[in-house]
Amino acid sequence: MSQEKPQSRREFLHAIGSLGGSAAVYQAMVTMGLLVPKDAQAAINKQRWQASASQNASANKPTIAILGAGISGLYVAYELKKAGYPFYLIEARARPGGRNHTVRAGSVLTETDSQQVCQFDSHDELYFNAGAARISQHHQHLLSICRELKVPLQALVNDNPGAYLHSTSAFAGQPVRGREVQAALRGNIASLLAKAINANALNGEISNVERAYVLEVLKDFGALDNSWQYSGSTRAGVVPGSGGLTGEVAKQALKFEDFIFHPRVPFAANFAQTYEQAATMMQPVGGMDKIAYALAEQVAEESTYGAEVTAIRRTTNGVRVEGKVGKQVGAIEADYAIVTIPPSVLFKIPNDFSTQAKIQIAQVQYAAPTKIAFQSPRFWELEDIYGGISWTDPEILQLWYPSGGFGMSQGVIVGSYLFGGEHAARFANMSPQQRSEFALAKGERVHPNYRQNLSRPVSVAWSKVPYSMGGWSSSAPSSILQKPDGPFIFAGDHLTHLQGWQEGAVISSLNALANLASMVNA
Ligand SMILES: Cc1cc2nc3c(=O)[nH]c(=O)nc-3n(C[C@H](O)[C@H](O)[C@H](O)COP(=O)(O)OP(=O)(O)OC[C@H]3O[C@@H](n4cnc5c(N)ncnc54)[C@H](O)[C@@H]3O)c2cc1C
Repeated sequence: MSQEKPQSRREFLHAIGSLGGSAAVYQAMVTMGLLVPKDAQAAINKQRWQASASQNASANKPTIAILGAGISGLYVAYELKKAGYPFYLIEARARPGGRNHTVRAGSVLTETDSQQVCQFDSHDELYFNAGAARISQHHQHLLSICRELKVPLQALVNDNPGAYLHSTSAFAGQPVRGREVQAALRGNIASLLAKAINANALNGEISNVERAYVLEVLKDFGALDNSWQYSGSTRAGVVPGSGGLTGEVAKQALKFEDFIFHPRVPFAANFAQTYEQAATMMQPVGGMDKIAYALAEQVAEESTYGAEVTAIRRTTNGVRVEGKVGKQVGAIEADYAIVTIPPSVLFKIPNDFSTQAKIQIAQVQYAAPTKIAFQSPRFWELEDIYGGISWTDPEILQLWYPSGGFGMSQGVIVGSYLFGGEHAARFANMSPQQRSEFALAKGERVHPNYRQNLSRPVSVAWSKVPYSMGGWSSSAPSSILQKPDGPFIFAGDHLTHLQGWQEGAVISSLNALANLASMVNA
């Protein structure tokens, strides 16, 4: 009997590959723990799509109508183009990108009841990402588009411990630096734990051997003194004027009771610990829309802008999309439609979707975020703030400092970013002038010299932006809409767990392409 040589992992995967294709290999690698299963389905969809595209390289390909040129529609178009499919890309706005929208000198921001023209000076660094603004290091599908299309990226400072944490109900209403709160939070929690260990309160949890090690870790973690107290540390900052020739003197420590009962303060201090928001975050150099324009350039020939879809119909063999460009009405026919128009808009467009799909679309709820930005001399850099976010009361919540153009004389500061809820609704209901005044009055509490520096406001309330009518879905993704509905295939970030992220938009496009591949190959 011959002794069979054990299969190596490589041989085993090769064998699976010849039986089941690359998707099977990927799945096996995930199962074997060779790949992290994060977004495994998206990678499988990409493999399915690429395998189908190469199998059908010379075959007669169906014609696709892509509705909407946000990141989802643009990415679908880009992949179809590479695979040699005939397609139309139809977009209502005059620009690509949808909720990926960068505002610069002369940009027009239209809402249902107002129109603003951005008055910033014309300069590469003077821009405002009114929608998407940051990219997580984990957003590999979006990042691979940037890599492929050579969109330069730079670090986005999402968390800057040198920026302020302010609350009218904490620290006597005075802004403190984020690092003061972070140091006091760690210090006081470590101190409490060390005292509990020393009082034998955790004997059941920690053995005698572990005890000394844990105490040592806590001392370092919290910058504790020899009596296990947190009494301050230069981690929190130093007294102005100390350091240099004289030596650093630690700033007086914040008192635990001054902030621990104000849940928003610790929340802000911990915000950038979350997986999606943690360093290193990124942004395209010169504005988020660099991604949209890089994709749009690849599919310019097949794209029509300023074309609003007015009805989506089913025909005997495919679809008929009716629309208008200005006053001119028209229609196109195709075999399939990939529909990336957000449900917040789609539910009002007459269509022949199945009843089930119509119900699902109508049920999607949208968050209503708002933002405002100003041009200003970079006074914050004189306060040692280079990029990052200051947090304040929930009426305006956040101030963002630019992550690029350090040392320039002018910059664009985001004077408020609200993710939705009652404060955002109130902000949205104000006129652009009222929003500006409101943001200045509240921002002055963080920076007393705010008003004299900031000018040229421009704001957005996404619930009032035509063709978006909302920021992002706050409903669970619909598994019904993730599947084709006859010749209609849906895409958009609302169909993924990464709602409100462009990565979600790209993942949904891969799902749509895999759906298309199955139908074409059926
Ligand atoms: C305030 C805000 C902050 C955000 N922050 C981030 C962030 O930091 N990072 C991140 O990655 N993502 C962020 N996002 C989310 C990100 O912008 C979206 O996930 C992504 O852009 C969605 O792309 P999409 O193609 O699915 O949808 P959309 O961008 O909405 O594209 C849909 C397209 O359909 C078009 N359309 C609508 N109606 C019609 C019609 N009748 N006819 C023809 N075309 C039509 C629209 O004009 C639009 O271009 C943010 C979004 C907002 C609003």
